[in-house]
Amino acid sequence: MTKKTIKVGVLGLQGAFQKHIEIINSLGAEAIDIRYKDQIEGCHGLIIPGGESTTMSKLIDEMNLRESLEKFPGMIFGTCAGAILLSEDGADPRVTPLRRTPVKVMRNAYGRQIESFVENISLSFNDKPFKAVFIRAPKFNNIDSSAEILGHLNGTNVLIRSGNNLLATFHPELTDDPRIHQYFLNCLQ
Ligand code: GLN
Repeated sequence: MTKKTIKVGVLGLQGAFQKHIEIINSLGAEAIDIRYKDQIEGCHGLIIPGGESTTMSKLIDEMNLRESLEKFPGMIFGTCAGAILLSEDGADPRVTPLRRTPVKVMRNAYGRQIESFVENISLSFNDKPFKAVFIRAPKFNNIDSSAEILGHLNGTNVLIRSGNNLLATFHPELTDDPRIHQYFLNCLQ
């Protein structure tokens, strides 16, 4: 029997989507750049990349993608702005989140002084620390007790799984370490 090729759609409306495509392809799955509704159906999983959640929220509506994303039955991996979009409340009237995950987030939560930084985070599914790039990152506010905490930075939760959603407040695609993308692909098998 031939091995099923996992197809991952990476939302390519805005932001840091190209690196996600490269990592997914390097792990032996097939990544496609998603811009239109009819491309979503054939995907096993989706990635909503980092960027600007206000802009992405607007483009999702302009491209008429909202309902397909809200109802997508497979797993969606949201990184940074993507995690804000998967939440139930982005605490900003300019962001209409997809409300797939019972978690609230605060945008740009690390403040102006430390807009971007790189830190080792701890993962629950692997012993080796993961070097995580935070760029004007959000923080999770009220995490529902059903969510699984998969990564933290000195006690601050930065990677969670809730139902069919995986949320990272950082950019796992900006380092050469594919462990988090591999974790996501394992969930799609
Ligand atoms: N600050 C951005 C926002 O609120 C997120 C930044 C990012 O995705 N790196 O949408």
